[in-house]
Amino acid sequence: MVLEHLQLLAAITRIDNEINELQEELGDLPHEVRAMEREVRTKQQALDVTQRQIDDILQTRSNAQIRGQEIRDKEKKLGEQQYQVRNNREFDAITKEIESLKVELRDIEKTVSGTFLTEENLRRVYEGQADELGFVSDRLQDLEHELRDLSAGQGEEMNQFLVQRNELLKKLPQNIIVPYERIKEYHVDTTVAVKRNCCSGCFNSVPPQRIVEMRTYKTIFACESCGRMLYPEEMQHLA
Ligand SMILES: [Zn+2]
Repeated sequence: MVLEHLQLLAAITRIDNEINELQEELGDLPHEVRAMEREVRTKQQALDVTQRQIDDILQTRSNAQIRGQEIRDKEKKLGEQQYQVRNNREFDAITKEIESLKVELRDIEKTVSGTFLTEENLRRVYEGQADELGFVSDRLQDLEHELRDLSAGQGEEMNQFLVQRNELLKKLPQNIIVPYERIKEYHVDTTVAVKRNCCSGCFNSVPPQRIVEMRTYKTIFACESCGRMLYPEEMQHLA
């Protein structure tokens, strides 16, 4: 009876290991997808910031160009007025006004030419950021496909393992299933062989006398160190 129970436990542990492996296969992928989603958002935000800076610089240039045209128009008008002055005082006043307009116009032209340089730099930054965004977006899409495919493919396999596990559990009494499930909360490989006089779960040594008792299959022994259920290595070959 104990032999049969131990063999069932060992078989369930093998299935639990398989299930665990499937879960681990998925394990990092959902996490990676989320990390890549954050990456895409960050890159998109950086790109948006640069786009706003480009819009700002174009607006600055447009405003400066409009103001520049206003100044040129005014200057032209003042130039015409200068021919119609009645005295030197008026002439000097207009000359002064024209001078100050010329100063402002030089500043504005400096501003306009500065915007071209800034725009060029920003466009270069934008291109780099757009490339990066494209790269992480592609990567995200790949990861999402991978996750979807893997989950879909696993569904069937996982189901089979769970069915097999249930079938085996039905053959065990509750007083064995309960401790098994409790140990499993700590160790996926809940039932392990004694190899070279050691628990193959934690590698703690098992006293030779204990192994001799184990081979009589009268009771189930737990590892004193890790609590896993133990069976003699040769049990796997017993019918
Ligand atoms: Zn152990």
